[in-house]
Amino acid sequence: METKKLEGIIPSVNYHLWNPCNMKCKFCFATFQDAKVVLPKGHLAKEESLELIREIAAIGFKKITFAGGEPTLCPWISELVKEAKKQGLTTMLVTNGTKLNEDFLSANQGYLDWIILSVDSLDDNANLVSGRAIAGKRTLSVNDYKNTIDNINKYNYRLKINTVVHQFNYKESMLDFIEYAKPERWKVFQVLPMKGENDDYIDDFKISKVQFEEFLNRHQSLKEAGILISENNTEMVDSYAMIDPAGRFFTNKNGFQEYSEPILNSGIENAYQQMNYNYDKFLNRGGLYSWGKNLTIKNKMKTKITLSGEVASGPPPTLARASRSCPQ
Ligand code: SF4
Repeated sequence: METKKLEGIIPSVNYHLWNPCNMKCKFCFATFQDAKVVLPKGHLAKEESLELIREIAAIGFKKITFAGGEPTLCPWISELVKEAKKQGLTTMLVTNGTKLNEDFLSANQGYLDWIILSVDSLDDNANLVSGRAIAGKRTLSVNDYKNTIDNINKYNYRLKINTVVHQFNYKESMLDFIEYAKPERWKVFQVLPMKGENDDYIDDFKISKVQFEEFLNRHQSLKEAGILISENNTEMVDSYAMIDPAGRFFTNKNGFQEYSEPILNSGIENAYQQMNYNYDKFLNRGGLYSWGKNLTIKNKMKTKITLSGEVASGPPPTLARASRSCPQ
């Protein structure tokens, strides 16, 4: 049966294509242990993932974000990205950065539009305590992150940075780092408790709304420049269309993950409608933006960010990103 476009669909979808990851973040809510109950390998076969992407495009999604686990560990990730681009989707990939080598960046150039780099802290201890480290043991240094960003720029990808704010980093300032990185968007999330995913450790990581705002206020200049986009727990819940490694839509609206029937079995329209996603919350969290246009970062970065956190007018503070055109 041919898939028809669905009116009123949330236009972007996060496809968590598999759960393996080489980091061990204790607050991670994307472990998808349940997918192994549905599928022996815990994820779809390559051909099924390709078919899923064609269905995603056919029903009317405009943007796909590949996520995991760590999606760059998937041997066929580049084939999925290419298929998504062939279907006309804006393509994004969320990564912890450990496998963003030149081979990957070169192979996906022209197919992958945006790279979303997860950077929670520039403090080794905070990263180590939270498990944001290879095998939970080896952290990435500030220079590692900066080198990765340099490579992302070299291959002309659009850049977004994701940061999860928790008990071990909410007192930190990332102004210098963001000034260096010059992402088009910096998404800052309040660490999210998710029953069945991160129960074992979340009490050590949770922060109050006041603590979250303390972090945001420290970076107010970036908010005013339109670069920092924040999401507290209320805003995050039920505002994302998401697909799990077993190929099911899921939602977190009740504080745990609830799944549709498998998309490839029940039909994507039927599976989507089982979730009843909240379109207004998607809009309110700023989910709709110019992800697919050749928007230049120039304009946003004309706002000079000072270390004191003040905002001043002036020329773009730097460099490569400020002069190039640029979609998660
Ligand atoms: S890097 Fe991402 S997917 Fe991997 S453990 Fe950390 S939060 Fe989870």
